[in-house]
Amino acid sequence: MNRCLICQKQIKDFSLNKFLNPNELICDNCYCQMNSIDKKFKINGIKAIALYKYNDFMKKVILQIKMHKDYELAQNILNNKINSLKRKFKNYYLVYVPSTKDSDQQRGFNHVETIFNGIGIKKDNIFFKKENYKQSNIKFKDRNKISKIIDLKKRPQINQKYLIVDDIITSQNSLKTCINLLKKNNVSKIKVLVLAYNCRNNKKFYSLKLLKRIIFKI
Ligand SMILES: [Zn+2]
Repeated sequence: MNRCLICQKQIKDFSLNKFLNPNELICDNCYCQMNSIDKKFKINGIKAIALYKYNDFMKKVILQIKMHKDYELAQNILNNKINSLKRKFKNYYLVYVPSTKDSDQQRGFNHVETIFNGIGIKKDNIFFKKENYKQSNIKFKDRNKISKIIDLKKRPQINQKYLIVDDIITSQNSLKTCINLLKKNNVSKIKVLVLAYNCRNNKKFYSLKLLKRIIFKI
């Protein structure tokens, strides 16, 4: 009997996900807490999909992958969505938002690449980060600097479809930079796929919250 890679509890034989995939390594309870949303939205006019809500549980899952270097969890986190993702993006080239060299070396693997590797489409790792720089250490007003830090290793193919992937969507600056670099090189078929979407970083969400507060005060 397999143990769940997240909570370490045994996965029951009558589990729904185990019925669908006998080699399942994540339990039904953890899948429920991951809060699947498949949210569609746009970044710089490009269609994007976020698979899960960035809630406290998802925060813990991503930390387990990134900080505790859980390669096996990174490989299996998309198990129950992998077949539909394979169908949806079968003609795309996978490109991921680059991490700093230091964090990849410390972790021993690039977590974004490992998470999305299972989609099984061709990879064309065209982006890189010029400096060892962490977005989380930079003040929000300075984050536009990231456009000068991410660059292309090589020219993309104009007629190719590109799927840009990332783990969490926060300020969107890294993703916007990658999109703009492809657009500048005349690539028009671009889509974005992210593991988790953080509603608190969405300006529209903030303005709606603010509006509600004003109305209720009146
Ligand atoms: Zn579990």
